[in-house]
Amino acid sequence: MQKLKEAILSRGKALDGGVLLVDAFLNHQVDVQLLREAGERFAAHFSAKPFSRVVTIESSGIVPAAFTALAMGLPLVIFKKQTSRILTGELLQTRVRSFTKGIDYQLTVKRDFIAPGDCLLFIDDFLASGEAAFGAIELARMAGASVDGVGIVIEKSFQPGRARLEQAGLDVLSLARIRSMSAQGIEFAD
Ligand code: 5GP
Repeated sequence: MQKLKEAILSRGKALDGGVLLVDAFLNHQVDVQLLREAGERFAAHFSAKPFSRVVTIESSGIVPAAFTALAMGLPLVIFKKQTSRILTGELLQTRVRSFTKGIDYQLTVKRDFIAPGDCLLFIDDFLASGEAAFGAIELARMAGASVDGVGIVIEKSFQPGRARLEQAGLDVLSLARIRSMSAQGIEFAD
């Protein structure tokens, strides 16, 4: 997606440790036109499969996932990273390692919001090691459902997430694939 690549080059910043700062357009200040287009791209790619829900992880996945769900006419479920006093009922939980924070969190969803047999489309802002995506896959499994597609806004192809998801047989669409990045510049894989 050309506009996304341009935004990454002009407004993104490669930090140490293989982290790309995108707070100017994706997860702090948000370019909603760009992310609406991202949602439409995911919808066009995945509409041939009978998905029943779009799922994502709070908070940076919510905007692209919401536009995808809107474009596909599907409900959206947000998996939680933080528990709270009002998150009650029967909960499904799995431990996930946060790439950016370097700590573990309990990925959580109410059993009521994923039905057995659901065909889920997982959307997220980044793919790095694949931990978040595999956490979503595990929650789906616990609910008797399955993740059958993965849509990623920015894939860091120099990290192992894509290879792991492909090995698991998943259809992965990434709208921008970064081959390498450093303070000197960012190169795309395609
Ligand atoms: P993974 O679980 O694939 O290792 O990492 C994906 C998750 O970590 C995403 O949900 C995203 O929020 C965060 N993440 C991974 N890499 C980056 C990055 O370079 N920049 C930002 N802003 N978030 C990232």
